[in-house]
Amino acid sequence: MVAARSMAGPAGASGGTDSPVDVLAARWAELGPGADAALPARLATLLRRLGTTLGAEPFWPMAARDIGADLLTSGLCGTAAEVAEAAEEVLPATLRLLRREGTRTFGAPPDRVAAALDELVTGFCAALRDRAVAAQSDLLRSTLREQEGVARALALSETHFRTVYTQGAVGIGITSLDGLVLDLNPALCGMFGIGPLDQPRPVTDFVHPDDVADVVQRYQRLVRGEPDVMRMELRFVRPDGLVLFTDVVASIVRDDRGAPTHLLVVVEDRSERTRLRLRLQRAAYHDQLTQLPNRSLTEQWVQRAFEPGSAQRVGICALDLDGLTRINDGLGHQVGDQVLLAVAARLQMAASEHVVTRTGGDEFAVLVADPADVDEVCRIADRVLDAFATPFLVRGHALSLTASIGVAAAPTAVACPEELIRAADVALSWAKAHGGARRVVFDPERDAGESARFALLAGLPGAVERGEFRLVHQPLVDLADGRLRGVEALVRWQHPVQGLLGPGRFIELAEHSGAIVPLGEWVLRTACAQAAGWVRELGDAAPFVSVNVSPVQLAEPDFARVVTEVLDATGLAPERLQLEITEQAVLGDETTTLAALGALRAAGVRLALDDFGTGWSSLAWLRRLPVHALKIDGSFVDGLRHPVADPMDSAIIGALVGMAHALGLEVTAEWVETERQAERLTELGCDLGQGRWFGDAGPAEWVTGLVRRSIEA
Ligand code: C2E
Ligand code: MG
Ligand code: MG
Repeated sequence: MVAARSMAGPAGASGGTDSPVDVLAARWAELGPGADAALPARLATLLRRLGTTLGAEPFWPMAARDIGADLLTSGLCGTAAEVAEAAEEVLPATLRLLRREGTRTFGAPPDRVAAALDELVTGFCAALRDRAVAAQSDLLRSTLREQEGVARALALSETHFRTVYTQGAVGIGITSLDGLVLDLNPALCGMFGIGPLDQPRPVTDFVHPDDVADVVQRYQRLVRGEPDVMRMELRFVRPDGLVLFTDVVASIVRDDRGAPTHLLVVVEDRSERTRLRLRLQRAAYHDQLTQLPNRSLTEQWVQRAFEPGSAQRVGICALDLDGLTRINDGLGHQVGDQVLLAVAARLQMAASEHVVTRTGGDEFAVLVADPADVDEVCRIADRVLDAFATPFLVRGHALSLTASIGVAAAPTAVACPEELIRAADVALSWAKAHGGARRVVFDPERDAGESARFALLAGLPGAVERGEFRLVHQPLVDLADGRLRGVEALVRWQHPVQGLLGPGRFIELAEHSGAIVPLGEWVLRTACAQAAGWVRELGDAAPFVSVNVSPVQLAEPDFARVVTEVLDATGLAPERLQLEITEQAVLGDETTTLAALGALRAAGVRLALDDFGTGWSSLAWLRRLPVHALKIDGSFVDGLRHPVADPMDSAIIGALVGMAHALGLEVTAEWVETERQAERLTELGCDLGQGRWFGDAGPAEWVTGLVRRSIEA
């Protein structure tokens, strides 16, 4: 093996310029039994083809079958004679290597790599089988060359046939037309594990029960001469119970006049190859470490459960370990592997008769066939979570570990396998997002909401340029004289698909994506331009405009500069602009934010603290803020709507107003919906009111009319 490494090809000698594919090919070549200088280059070619298959759109994993077939002749498993035996070790090691490195080398998703490797193994096994069948046919041909002298052959007088019959490795039997085995050659006796026959026995005595009906039917066709030669795969059962997987060629033997007399049956044992194939299939569909079914088999299981007549309902618990990376990083992968083994064992205990699979590095699944309802799946999930209560004892460490589980269950009649798997994965991501160590059940409504949010998020960039936003303005009314003193600018999104959207639907998304910065600037510019227009029409009677500012905008280093630039550009006097900020905005980076607010106040802009009372609201802290006004959150105002006002809310508002006035701040009450609320707020000393009672938000063009009416009233 060292030889193969040192002969990794000219690229290896050229001083570390090997491509990732060449490096992987060299490592792959080391798995084989022999030293072959050209092997890495041949494997590199196969890897490049695998890379092409993995990257193809659409992805067609079956293309990897040809690669598997060519792997057979690549020399990785030694010479033709060695292949079948060598493959037992080399192929599983190959799968492990390519699974691990395939994703990294080709940048393909792990699911793709696994699917392509499954097909590669299938191709390899098919080629192995074809090759064995071809070799057997050669042997058979030489045997059947005796056909013209079959009668003599039967008499076992011909020396050539006798040699093949008695000394050949191929099993040969002679049977009568009515289905009795008359004689077996030593090779076939050896295969069956019996001595020479002392009397004829029915063919069916030897055949696997599941194959008997088929054999009887084929036997009769042969005897009728339709056709004369027949090939089939057949299972025999030995007296010791071992099942033989064989390829059989049966041919009719005729006498001189052409009348059928016997059947000549040539049997080739391919049990070893079949067992190899089964073992390789196991390797392809099972996780090497825990021996649990892997993701491919999980998907197959779910697919099958959805087939008609299989199950009424299917449930999945998708599980992800919460702290495995920590253990791997801290104590090494060997400890991590031991933990995974222990987890697999506990999962199987907790899941009892249900199928446990390993779907990824630290991901498992419990598959539940025909649960009565989703609650049954939840109970299983809870048992699984309980299984993590005690720490795992591995190599002297007591390791505490938790798991997150996403639960989904659906009737097979209305759902499809992919949907169910996705649902469990989505629920799992919710469980993770909530901090892990819990189970969360899939909720279609929440999912639809998130998908819609995702669609909105995708549409945010460029929406300003496409002119999809607009502003509406809500009156801010002086409680003492009923005059319109200001308006709050509220943004709306005329979404091309989802229709008119309020800020509750998109502001948070815009904040997370950063789109709030250009959007906020557009709001500011538009509001100031509109307010400047009102001043031109109404002069001093024009209202100030109050613009909401997101904490993200406020944290921008040049926010204050942008505001003054907008005021300059629109010609609006600074005292006619009020910026509404929230307490959270100031909490983040206090120094920068306070500096920006200080600069704005110095420039003459009004500042209001929005939604006051819902946050921290510390008095000491409020003193340090350069704000002019407080807006008391609507939730306090709500308690004043009843005939007997909520004494607690009245007291709170009274105290807030007193405190604010002591600090020289103006107070606005939000969400004033009734006359009674307006009266109570006036009594409690609030300065301005905002809410349905004074008017909903409307377009900028309405504002001049509103002002004129409020002056006339
Ligand atoms: P906010 O600043 O507290 O705005 C007041 C919200 O209360 C508005 O909702 C308004 O329509 C609603 N409202 C008004 N009167 C009543 C009433 O009598 N009863 C009730 N229950 N609600 C009333 P809207 O327009 O949906 O805005 C929600 C929030 O979105 C605003 O709360 C503000 O925080 C944010 N927002 C709005 N426009 C912008 C903007 O341009 N930029 C930023 N960053 N945020 C904005
Ligand atoms: Mg506001
Ligand atoms: Mg508010």
